[in-house]
Amino acid sequence: MIVAVDGPSGAGKSTVCREVARRLEWSLLDTGAIYRCVALVARERGVDGDAEACGQIARELDIRFVAAPKGQRVFIGTRDVTTEIRTYETTQCVNHVSPMAEVRAELLAIQRRLGRLGHTIVEGRDIGSVVFPDADLKVFYTASAEARARRRMKEFASKGESLSFEDVVEQIRQRDETEYHRACSPLVRCADAVLLDTSDLDFERSCRALMDLIARVCREN
Ligand code: C5P
Repeated sequence: MIVAVDGPSGAGKSTVCREVARRLEWSLLDTGAIYRCVALVARERGVDGDAEACGQIARELDIRFVAAPKGQRVFIGTRDVTTEIRTYETTQCVNHVSPMAEVRAELLAIQRRLGRLGHTIVEGRDIGSVVFPDADLKVFYTASAEARARRRMKEFASKGESLSFEDVVEQIRQRDETEYHRACSPLVRCADAVLLDTSDLDFERSCRALMDLIARVCREN
């Protein structure tokens, strides 16, 4: 089974999907991490403004997700990049690398290959619309920009990065603008996706909501 979970950044998808996958003993494919790896390498090589060079990096990307006691770790070849792909700088960089058609085309095959390894929750922005349009269940997670900013602030604080609330809200609005309006694979709620608004849901209720949907689809199949 494939469960496609899409939605804007900070809506709680990643943490909820990770926890639900753990409880169900399913695989989790965090497709944002794949885009982040491309951005990290592109930035290090100083080619993050060059779509062709970024496409080349995506084509050659040797990405691995490795299970670890405290959650999945992300490797490029033998290099553990789990922390580096989450920094503020990489997040800024991925905003202009992920809309590149050259990058998206190259990453499609990788996502389809990794998503078909058993029961999998695949989370991203265009999973239900482009990567797995035939997914068994499609869910669209959303939350208000302010609710998302509050969650992001906690994440940044836990990593020792300090940003003002206003800056984080602004960063989220800018990312929404790019993601909803980009030419290639914009973030859309598919007509057949179930909408989950997590603005007023705590973590446990957000997990329950997804688990209930999955349980219903499993019963129907
Ligand atoms: O989910 P996360 O914030 O880690 O995603 C990182 C970046 O990758 C975002 O800018 C997002 O737009 C992009 N992305 C994408 N398509 C996906 C997953 C993520 O464009 N399927």
